[in-house]
Amino acid sequence: MKSKKYIPIAVNDGIGFGAKLKPKQLAVLGTYLDEDTDIELTTFQQLIVQIPEVEWEEAKKTFDKVGLQYYKVGKYVKNLRTCNFCKGEEEEGMPVAKELNRRIAGQVVPFTLKPAYTGCSIGCGEPLINDIGVMKDKNTFELYIGGKSIGRDARIGKLVKSNLQPEELYELVERVLDLYRENGKKREKFYRFVDRFGIENIKQELHIT
Ligand code: SF4
Repeated sequence: MKSKKYIPIAVNDGIGFGAKLKPKQLAVLGTYLDEDTDIELTTFQQLIVQIPEVEWEEAKKTFDKVGLQYYKVGKYVKNLRTCNFCKGEEEEGMPVAKELNRRIAGQVVPFTLKPAYTGCSIGCGEPLINDIGVMKDKNTFELYIGGKSIGRDARIGKLVKSNLQPEELYELVERVLDLYRENGKKREKFYRFVDRFGIENIKQELHIT
């Protein structure tokens, strides 16, 4: 007998005021999961679930109806981790976070990459200890890369550029990802790539003086 195939999927409610899920979303999710399956709760504001492969196309349509966001698991850019936007949607740049997430989440990269966003310099979204970190500073944005949250060699990311307008930020992040894809070794973690390639070389490639 053929065994059932499953695909791992990360789900959440998308970018909003805090990481929340609605009962109707959980109810829909439950219809696609085996009774005894494990649901993993990650530090990246998402649940990892195993969906039967044959039901995935139908599941996506149902998830769309209840606003459940879904992302691939593996060597992709993860969904943007954010702060809770405590000072309000516009003041803390939630539309920019949503657009950045729309552009980069799910992109193929040499190793799973964690991007984080925070609406002010208090930094609740911990952008400086993630692979790519964006911090809103008044009306502009700062971009950091190469942070690492775990291990004895945990470190904060390096500033690539400050005073960025939204369009400049999107473009710069896309170019950083292109650089990583083109020059990163197979399964090379992003912080290792930043170390090996060098922040100054990266800036030079990005035409940042
Ligand atoms: S980073 Fe700033 S805006 Fe975001 S939750 Fe923290 S204090 Fe509020």
